[in-house]
Amino acid sequence: MSTEATPDQINRARRAVRQQAETAAMLGVDFVPCFRTGEGIAEVEAPAAPVTAGEDSARAAAQQKMDELRARYEREAPHEQFATPHAYTNLVWGDGDVCARLMFIGEAPGADEDRTGVPFVGRAGQLLNKMIMAMGLRREEVYIANVLKTRPPNNATPTVEEARLCAPYLYEQIEIISPEVIVTLGLPATRLMLDSTETMGRLRGRWAEFVGPGAAGGSGIRVAVMPTYHPAFLLRSYTPENRKKIWSDLQMVMARLRGEG
Ligand code: URA
Repeated sequence: MSTEATPDQINRARRAVRQQAETAAMLGVDFVPCFRTGEGIAEVEAPAAPVTAGEDSARAAAQQKMDELRARYEREAPHEQFATPHAYTNLVWGDGDVCARLMFIGEAPGADEDRTGVPFVGRAGQLLNKMIMAMGLRREEVYIANVLKTRPPNNATPTVEEARLCAPYLYEQIEIISPEVIVTLGLPATRLMLDSTETMGRLRGRWAEFVGPGAAGGSGIRVAVMPTYHPAFLLRSYTPENRKKIWSDLQMVMARLRGEG
C-alpha cells in the first residue's frame, strides 16, 4: 500500500500550516513548521471532505431537530421573562455544522450580531474566525452559539437568571450537535457549562466536562470542555501573555481532535 500523501491531504496540510502561521504571528507564538514551495507557502484552498450518504441523512435529521428547537424557543420566548427587557432586532440562534466535532459557546449577541442574526460577525467574531482557521478548520465545519440568543441592552453581561432561563435550549443544541469538544469563550459561558463560580484565570487551559441534564431534560450527554478567554477580552487586552494562553488552549483542543489529547 502506498504511504504517499494524496494531493488533497497535501493541500489540507498546507492550508492548515499557512493558517497556523498567520495566527501564530497574531497570537505571538514564535515557531511553527512551514511547508515551502518555490514561491513560498502555497495558497491552495483545501477541498471539502467528501460527504457520504449516511452523513448527509444524519445532518438532515440534526438540522430538522435544530429547526424544531429554534421554533420552540421562539414560541416559549424565555427572554420575555428577563427582568430587564431585551429590545432585540434578530434572534441569534447559532451558526455552522449541526454535526460539528467542535462547538464554540460565547455569551450574547452584540450590535452586529443583532443586525444580522448571525453569531460572532463583529470584531470579536473576526478574531474568532482567525482562531478557527488557525486550527486548520473552516467556520462552516464548527458550530457557534451563545448563552443568550437576544442582545442585552448596552451589551450587558448576561445575568445568572438570564443564563438559567436560556440554558435548557443551549443544552438541547449541544444534545443535537453532540460535539466531541466544546470551547467556552469567556466567563458567562464557562460558568454555565461547568456550573462553577471560579475565575477565568483558574478555569482556562484545563480540560473540564459538561454533563447535560439527565432523565427529565435530556440524555445526560458528557462533552469535554476547554474554557478560554473571550476574543473580545483579547481585543481589549492584546498582550503577548493572553495571546499565548489562548493559542495554547486551542492547541490542546486541536490535539484532542486529532486523538492525541
Ligand atoms: N460576543 C459573543 O459572546 N457572542 C457573539 O455572538 C458576539 C460577540
